[in-house]
Amino acid sequence: MQGITIAIANQKGGVGKTTTAINLSAALAQKGKKVLLVDLDPQANSTISFVDLQEVELTIYDLLTDPLIKFDDVIRPSKIENLDILPSRINLAKLERQLIGELDAHFKLRDRLESINSRYDIVVIDTPPTLGLITVNALVAATHLMIPIQSSYFALEGTDDLLETIERIKARPNPELEVLGVVVTLHDRRTTLSKDIYEQICQVFGDKVFETTISKSVRLEESPAYRESIFTFAPASSGAIEYANLCDEVIRRVC
Ligand code: ATP
Ligand code: MG
Repeated sequence: MQGITIAIANQKGGVGKTTTAINLSAALAQKGKKVLLVDLDPQANSTISFVDLQEVELTIYDLLTDPLIKFDDVIRPSKIENLDILPSRINLAKLERQLIGELDAHFKLRDRLESINSRYDIVVIDTPPTLGLITVNALVAATHLMIPIQSSYFALEGTDDLLETIERIKARPNPELEVLGVVVTLHDRRTTLSKDIYEQICQVFGDKVFETTISKSVRLEESPAYRESIFTFAPASSGAIEYANLCDEVIRRVC
């Protein structure tokens, strides 16, 4: 199962990208997969969910801008066995501007990840809420794309731009990129509106939509503050059960 790289992307903010990145990574690691979680968002929310930022010296920014920096100088182990973190910090925001005009601007992450892909079964990349060069780097490095969509009246707003970007990337820099699936997040199964929204998302994405939906859960919101995944923070919660189910669906689809 080596060589799988899943970018988690949607240019809409607050749709559950980071919550999915951290809990899917933890679920995969618990199943014995060797997982690297790459935080490619200057907000560093994935990083903060697992490591103390004050202890972080070098970050993904250093790795992508200085060829002398080695992976082992940057990668941090997490408390979870089999799960390593490639941390980020706010300085990553500078990268977007620095990359403009560089010939290999789209390939920075892919080129760097190539040398360590063999160490991990799965690399998961958390991305920022934009379709700029940083997210494009994630999509060029990825074999698979996972799209979290928030269950809301405006759920599908902006998906045209995302789909257009995917097509552009598949046309040239990364023909291998495959949409792994769409996960509906912050879902409230009890309401008719939520059911309608799920149906609408299925009309656009067909069988790419995961059967598992992620419900609204205070536990999922709380766990990062304790630097825990949902599986240790609240193992019996709906969030833990749903992210474990999502992980099973992901494994079935990539295998
Ligand atoms: P950004 O675009 O800013 O990176 P994001 O897409 O990564 O945001 P998250 O950070 O995962 O989104 O989630 C946004 C907020 O919603 C966070 O406070 C998070 O804790 C909360 N949240 C995410 N998923 C759920 C859920 N299923 N139930 C309750 N709260 C959630
Ligand atoms: Mg995020």
